[in-house]
Amino acid sequence: MSVAACPPAVRSVSLWRPRTARMGVPRVRVAVQSNLVSIAPMLTKLQRDCATPLPVLRHVADAMADDMRAGLAVDGGSDLKMILSYVDSLPTGNEKGLFYALDLGGTNFRVLRVQLGGKDERVIATEFDQVSIPQDLMFGTTEDLFDFIASGLAKFAQNEGGKFHLAQGRMREIGFTFSFPVKQTSIDAGILIKWTKGFAVSGTAGKDVVACLNEAMERQGLNMRVSALVNDTVGTLAGARYWDDDVMVAVILGTGTNACYVERVDAIPKLQGLKSSSGRTIVNTEWGAFSNGLPLTEYDREMDAESINPGEQIFEKTISGMYLGEIVRRVLVKMAEAGALFGECVPEKLSTPFMLGTPHISAIQQDNSKDLQAVGSILYDVAGVNSDLSARKIVVEVCDTLAKRGGRLAGAGIVGILQKMEENSEGVMSRKRTIVAMDGGLYEHYPQYRRYLQDAVTELLGSELSKNVVIEHSKDGSGIGAALLAATNSKYEHEF
Ligand code: ADP
Ligand code: MG
Repeated sequence: MSVAACPPAVRSVSLWRPRTARMGVPRVRVAVQSNLVSIAPMLTKLQRDCATPLPVLRHVADAMADDMRAGLAVDGGSDLKMILSYVDSLPTGNEKGLFYALDLGGTNFRVLRVQLGGKDERVIATEFDQVSIPQDLMFGTTEDLFDFIASGLAKFAQNEGGKFHLAQGRMREIGFTFSFPVKQTSIDAGILIKWTKGFAVSGTAGKDVVACLNEAMERQGLNMRVSALVNDTVGTLAGARYWDDDVMVAVILGTGTNACYVERVDAIPKLQGLKSSSGRTIVNTEWGAFSNGLPLTEYDREMDAESINPGEQIFEKTISGMYLGEIVRRVLVKMAEAGALFGECVPEKLSTPFMLGTPHISAIQQDNSKDLQAVGSILYDVAGVNSDLSARKIVVEVCDTLAKRGGRLAGAGIVGILQKMEENSEGVMSRKRTIVAMDGGLYEHYPQYRRYLQDAVTELLGSELSKNVVIEHSKDGSGIGAALLAATNSKYEHEF
């Protein structure tokens, strides 16, 4: 089918785009009338393909629990890696003293210090700083990158004062949140598997990143040491647990997605012989790699095939913030091509991958006005099109369809984790209150998505059990969480 490219739209409601003689092209009619007759069946098909009725949710929850079990049995046993965090003592609230956290997970690193005052005083003070990493260091040597980080940390530590003070004779201890794929070997050591997110630093893969940082701190003459190496999901769980003992699961829904939970050591066959004083440990599921029985569409398959990691991270590609807007964009392109959603042409800007972000589709869903003015503005700004009311209504429906699928599947994943925990006769749902700590920009800023997630959890658990499960936003808990894990894993004598 041949389709015409749209000329840039004009914001006025005029159906005619004025052309200047200089451009030497004839006046072109910009139709904004959509062809509802051919679009309606496409929307219906999309809704059918994305549907998540209770049996689908149940299947996903069961499959998630099965995959967790298989991943705990043997390394490589399932899509889910079920990585051991080596975190087996969680914060209690009694922690005291000065601790630092360092978070490296993207183009910025964050440093934070916290003075903990125990049960009564809790968090006495916190301070943080953020430093962006120069582009050339992302392609440089391991020494250069870690020296830069250590010198940033040294500058931050120099300004310590006021309410912060270190007990005599102690080194400053750090919780290091490192959000790249790591094979953790103990609470304070982990081998970098590979750099991701645009980093290509030479010589780090295969090395212990904690040793790299400790050596850089030594070179800088900085008297600090890493006591805990943690993933951001684990940091979130620890940060939320500090305030409430009932926190057992943490889920990140941001650009990507991941979940971790508290597991009994004797339920981890692949780790026989591992000692844990509490008998429990946090397992990082890496659930973004889950793929079993998801309701996928032609748009998902095409996006996956064109991605840098085809066939991988399918759950993440279905539910997380990096992808929801892109799936919507692909649907709209198809509707524009086959159903003239935006008139007789396909807007060129709309054909650019990742042009439409999840924040856009979330903003589209917040428009309650009668004429969907904000939807029209977003479509104009992002895709360069004028839209009539019927086209805007369809766009809202498409956004809702994908947010609903994403939120409900995320909810089913959470229930899968709870089912797995319940099976260990933990009574996490049947006998006690359990908190699932949530964080990430998608969860925080997309109310409809959040509601769909909660609905799915309630539908799956039924009204009685779901009363015991509290899904709670734990904003930016992972920074303090990492500092708390430095405290609970402190090398010094402590009573907390
Ligand atoms: P990261 O996951 O990269 O650590 P965040 O947790 O801050 O970062 O999440 C950022 C992601 O959250 C963005 O990539 C985007 O997908 C999503 N997001 C940000 N703002 C919104 C919004 N207003 N509505 C929906 N999703 C949003
Ligand atoms: Mg994050």
